[in-house]
Amino acid sequence: MDYISRFRVEPGSQVDLSKIDASFKDQHESHQHALPEIETYRQQLADLQYLMYAENKRSLLICLQGRDAAGKDGTIKHVLGAMNPQGCKVAAFKVPTREEAAHDFLWRYHRATPAKGEVAIFNRSHYEDVLVVRVHNLVPQDVWSQRYAHINHFEQQLADSGTHILKFYLHIDADEQLARFKQRIDDPARHWKISDSDYSERPLWDEYTTAFEAALSQCSTPHAPWFIIPSNHKWFRNLAISRIVSETLSALDMKFPAPTVNINEIRKKYHQIEKGESPS
Ligand code: AMP
Ligand code: MG
Repeated sequence: MDYISRFRVEPGSQVDLSKIDASFKDQHESHQHALPEIETYRQQLADLQYLMYAENKRSLLICLQGRDAAGKDGTIKHVLGAMNPQGCKVAAFKVPTREEAAHDFLWRYHRATPAKGEVAIFNRSHYEDVLVVRVHNLVPQDVWSQRYAHINHFEQQLADSGTHILKFYLHIDADEQLARFKQRIDDPARHWKISDSDYSERPLWDEYTTAFEAALSQCSTPHAPWFIIPSNHKWFRNLAISRIVSETLSALDMKFPAPTVNINEIRKKYHQIEKGESPS
């Protein structure tokens, strides 16, 4: 099985998160051991994003979802750190503002989608509207239950207009989450990240699991697949995501646009001295 398919949720399959080991780290013994591979995919990501920007024909949307402290911020730092800020953007979605809440639920996401040539990363996404919203009954069941179909149509529409979509669920277990909350408590530079809801959501762990499983099962499609990334090891999460993004972009067979000028003529006219010839 190829690398991408190992983590991809097959369209139509039923996800059971309890069967997936959040500490999986493939054949790598350690972070140290994986470093050369991490660097390879970091470099590939940089090259491919540059090509996508130059080609200016299609775009990439990366959606990150996961429980609190699953590593959404860290993933963005790693993946975006490899890319040229020109041509990349990040959108983070919080509790909807009054203006956002006064529109249909997809409105705020649609306006943040990438333009041709761009990469956009969603830190949380339209899936919050079938996750936190479902778990806390923020809208009635007959409203949220229709949203899976709305989301599939929305993503189909984006794909039809040249946007490639990759969605990553960062899978951590309850012990790892508590350990990461504790690290935040112990590190004054991370106190700002702590919110009451981090702790008050923990008793709802199973409700969130059900909501994540429904989203992963109902909304993994060929044009917008979900990937479940074992994320207890941060370095493995970074490696797996950058490899999947790299391999997906490589398969697009992107091309630099043809030059709009005659390169040979310009070379002859302005660069003859460099080649040791005297200017005409
Ligand atoms: P953070 O990502 O840690 O800054 O937290 C953002 C918070 O906004 C999380 O608690 C999310 O559950 C919440 N949030 C994001 N989208 C929605 C939404 N559509 N409805 C309600 N809460 C949301
Ligand atoms: Mg948070």
